[in-house]
Amino acid sequence: MPHVITQSCCSDGSCVYACPVNCIHPSPDEPGFATTEMLYIDPEACVDCGACVSACPVGAIAPASRLTPEQLPFIELNAGFYPPRPPGQKLPPTSKLAPVIPAPQVRSGRSPLTVAIVGSGPAAMYAADELLTQPDVRVNVFEKLPTPYGLVRAGVAPDHPSTKRVTALFDRITRRKGFTFFLNVEVGEHLSHSDLLAHHHAVLYAVGAPNDRRLDIDGMGLPGTDTATELVGWFNGHPDFTDLPVHLDQERVVVIGNGNVALDVARILTADPDELARTDIADHALARLRNSRVREVVIAARRGPADSAFTLPELIGLTAKAEVVLDPDDHELVQRDLAALGTGPEDRLTRAKLDVLSKLGSSDSPLTRPRIRLAYRLTPARIVGADRADGIEFTVTGTDGSRRIDAGMVLTSIGYRGRAVRDLPFDDDAGVVPNDGGRVSGARSAYVAGWIKRGPTGFIGTNKSCAQQTVQQLVADYNDGVLADPVDRPGALAKLVAARRPAAIDLAGWRAIDAAEIARGDGIRPRNKFTDVPSMLAAAAAAPKPSVRQRILAGLRR
Ligand code: NAP
Repeated sequence: MPHVITQSCCSDGSCVYACPVNCIHPSPDEPGFATTEMLYIDPEACVDCGACVSACPVGAIAPASRLTPEQLPFIELNAGFYPPRPPGQKLPPTSKLAPVIPAPQVRSGRSPLTVAIVGSGPAAMYAADELLTQPDVRVNVFEKLPTPYGLVRAGVAPDHPSTKRVTALFDRITRRKGFTFFLNVEVGEHLSHSDLLAHHHAVLYAVGAPNDRRLDIDGMGLPGTDTATELVGWFNGHPDFTDLPVHLDQERVVVIGNGNVALDVARILTADPDELARTDIADHALARLRNSRVREVVIAARRGPADSAFTLPELIGLTAKAEVVLDPDDHELVQRDLAALGTGPEDRLTRAKLDVLSKLGSSDSPLTRPRIRLAYRLTPARIVGADRADGIEFTVTGTDGSRRIDAGMVLTSIGYRGRAVRDLPFDDDAGVVPNDGGRVSGARSAYVAGWIKRGPTGFIGTNKSCAQQTVQQLVADYNDGVLADPVDRPGALAKLVAARRPAAIDLAGWRAIDAAEIARGDGIRPRNKFTDVPSMLAAAAAAPKPSVRQRILAGLRR
């Protein structure tokens, strides 16, 4: 039985290099890799060795015989990526194995390459990993929250535990020689770019895209209007969003935009709270969801079904878990889009998405449990309501017609947006720091990786090749002598941080928070998160203090 890649594929490509027969595509050197929704195993070429299973950081790969019923559609999805052939016939080999991107070779002889990384999400951790493949490199990771891993902790939906398994890889990176955490330290607030440059050869910003794109229509800002990304922060226990006013007192919620974030939000708002109680969802969110009156979440897209922004794996996962329906008019749109579609391989994914949509139930059927309605060709015009949102009025896209949908909460889910970084240039239109392959244009010894470099698209693993590209540039600059040696002595950085931010947390502190959260999960939940900074600091304070010997050894290592 061949192996199959399933919904939680993060596209980091580790499986590609583990595969001895090059049967996983697109591989990082192939043109489709940057934009693919997932990677696919060729069932005719797979030798069933399972090497990819151990390499995958999110547990997305399994033998076809061991898939759950909900995962069965992924057998066809994997096979469908490859051209049809008679059974048993293999594809002509393009190359023996996917060429491994060579690790950047750091030339020794000068003061050891020392890099500050700002942020601790996937792009930051993959960059640290890549740098630490080289001997004698030091990496200091600065994170403004007391907890690391960015959107893996605060963005991935709680009912996607497999995706969160990538934190085991990140934990392994923190244990590598040369890695140091400075958590609860905000660069731009407690330390500046030049402070960091006094102690490092380079600063690599992997700060993500913390804002969300705003919808400029009348009524946005009324109570009952909000953004999906803030709601995601709320149910994931991000300390900035614990007090978010969440209006679950009416029967309907409308989400504007139909990307994967919209699907995450709709799924959580309609999920069975008893099932959520087995996840790491924040306690405050679980309590509110238990009292929710929401019976329907409408996901409203301005374009038609063929242009849906969600990915096929996420749509398959959604329809396996939740009740998802379409209005009869939208069923007609699906049929129309299917009829207009070409038969070429470039239309394969769209056809597969439309096929899934065409099999959904109709919104005419009576409501038996909270459900999700996908709605199309609705361009948001204005929020309806005087003191709070009562609903939203749309124009029917491409017509003069309008349509009103009543709702107690309207959430925009129209994408994340990068925020300007102090001391760096910023492209306000694109929401990114202008850069050339990760090298920041016009700032000394500054580099970027992840969403602040390329914009808010892609999956967790997309950040691996993105970070590798940046690290290649950084190391080339170091080798060419472009990066000035740090002027301050090793050890001075720890003193500076302690002076500017006495509440900074180190790796031991994070481990103490992590252990306390897991213990609070009582074996029923993977963890019960702390959702406010004082509780996190209190848990970190329980970390064992290093002995004098350990402190001396750590000082020598630095
Ligand atoms: P997204 O995929 O870019 O979707 C944005 C949606 O907003 C689209 O439907 C877009 O419609 C719509 N939109 C934009 N401007 C609009 C406007 N003015 N009026 C109405 N609609 C508007 O964004 P996202 O959902 O925030 O996701 C961000 C990235 O994270 C994506 O790469 C996504 O795949 C990834 N992600 C992945 C997962 C996962 O794998 N489980 C989960 C969450 C996020 P148009 O298409 O018409 O522009």
